[in-house]
Amino acid sequence: MLRRIFSSVILSVFLLPGLAAAQDAKPAKAEPSAKPKPKVIVVGVNGMELDIIRPLLLKGQMPNLASVVNRGAYGKLRTVSSPNCPRVYSTLFTSTQPEENGVTGFLVGGITANTNMLKQEPIWSLLSSSKVTVGMANVPATFPVMPVNGYMISGMLTRGKNCDDGVLCAPKLSEVTGGDAVYPKTMQAELLKNVGDFFIDCERMPSAADLKGHELPVIDQWLSKVQTIREQQNKLFDYLLSKHPTDFTFMVQSCEDRVGHWLYPISPFNVGYNASVNSARPEAFPNQYIAFDKVLGTILKHVDDETYLFIVSDHGIKPLREFEQKDPHAHMDHEKDTPVIAKHDFADGDDVPGSFFVMGPGIKRDFRVMGLTASVYDIAPTILHLYGIEQPKQMHGHALSEIFEKRETAAATGN
Ligand SMILES: [Zn+2]
Repeated sequence: MLRRIFSSVILSVFLLPGLAAAQDAKPAKAEPSAKPKPKVIVVGVNGMELDIIRPLLLKGQMPNLASVVNRGAYGKLRTVSSPNCPRVYSTLFTSTQPEENGVTGFLVGGITANTNMLKQEPIWSLLSSSKVTVGMANVPATFPVMPVNGYMISGMLTRGKNCDDGVLCAPKLSEVTGGDAVYPKTMQAELLKNVGDFFIDCERMPSAADLKGHELPVIDQWLSKVQTIREQQNKLFDYLLSKHPTDFTFMVQSCEDRVGHWLYPISPFNVGYNASVNSARPEAFPNQYIAFDKVLGTILKHVDDETYLFIVSDHGIKPLREFEQKDPHAHMDHEKDTPVIAKHDFADGDDVPGSFFVMGPGIKRDFRVMGLTASVYDIAPTILHLYGIEQPKQMHGHALSEIFEKRETAAATGN
């Protein structure tokens, strides 16, 4: 009901002018008094693990992320208990608890999580209501898409051909069923023409039966599909940022996490270690971040000194623990049967914090936020703060004031 209320408000008030604005690549020749709205790009990375990333940064294999670290603030991002993608993203975009916003996991009451379940107003709706233009691409748990003051392309949990339940599969745009994957509908034909028939989400991991006796070729074939999907996403993001620039843009990558679950590089004798799988391609998971860094390079081409860039991760991913030795569920992936060596849905979310990297005007440079003081609840309030929009009462987080330069103080002291 709530959803219907906030959707219809956006539809009736902002839909058409907003879309027109989004399609016009040139800055509006607005009245001189109109102050441009801040430009904010949020890049979500599903399951970004700092333990894997730090050596890559040191070795110079993630030059784009390194440049963001140097130019901005970063730190761990406290996540929710038993974190998984839909559970954390719904928290991230509403700043409310999963139990409050209705999206508690991949399945809710046996049904794949979807936007009809959302009981709290998400950031894209709040921004749209404030005339901020919004662009969203492949954000998890945004299917079926909702009306916004711009565009929305759904992400993880989109249902389609060979992916009836929408859980960890990869329907192509033209093969989506059970709802719209693109808002406005007219944009779908444009995307098919200019970007191609891309996969909406990363590939499902092969089953234990598929792997048995054919580990290396099956792993390589799967990784090659992952690379294809990433290249398609890269093209999609570049196209959207070039042809449909919006004040606020939110784009998400999810292949990293999927690779980490079963190809996390690890020494023998860990719980769940299976030499035929885990010794096959130990470089595959770090390579995902190197590949992500190239996508980040594409996004950075659209980031100028006046743009705020957020890179956020919903959770990390860690190897299985000794106490899971006897828990058969700990060795499976999300109710399926791919043998996993790492996971993130630990009861204590502090075992697998996410991470965030932010740069932009007035953001501290080369600044590290210590501990777990920043949380996934704080991202939406921080974005609202940038737009000068009052934080709604239901949001639990707070704007991350510690990452901003204290300009007033500097002025007062003459520094
Ligand atoms: Zn995962």
